[in-house]
Amino acid sequence: MPRPKQPSSTLIKGIHKIRQVLHVDNKLPRAGRVIDGRHFAIIPGPVNTHHHLYLTLTRAFAPAADAEFFDWLRALYPIWARLDEESVYSGALSGMAELLLWGCTTTTDHHYVFPRGHSQLIDVQIQAARRAYGPRCLAHGNGRRRALPGP
Ligand SMILES: [Zn+2]
Repeated sequence: MPRPKQPSSTLIKGIHKIRQVLHVDNKLPRAGRVIDGRHFAIIPGPVNTHHHLYLTLTRAFAPAADAEFFDWLRALYPIWARLDEESVYSGALSGMAELLLWGCTTTTDHHYVFPRGHSQLIDVQIQAARRAYGPRCLAHGNGRRRALPGP
């Protein structure tokens, strides 16, 4: 990408929207807070469109760690068959925390494991998402979808 000839100024409204990009010669509008960002870049937050948050719970399970795909599935399905609300909530929180550490601002989870008697696991993910992400999480799987309402 070619480098701009003149530096520009950026006006950010809140933390969600770039409202205006101004040339450096423009008079800046009143602002509540001015940050000297001459040595920084502003980039949009990455969006993760495919995740399985509960997998954070079994990532370090040694018998599956170096297995080929189908052996990996065979090793882990007996564990995933015991998923419940508490484990899915914990997995969602730890997975989202990990994503946030990498700057990910939005995620989509493809949860598809619903052990008998635990059909509300997406609702549990949404509870975890509200705690970690606010309005930017979509959880779905197996024909079930839930999205947090927008801001
Ligand atoms: Zn997947």
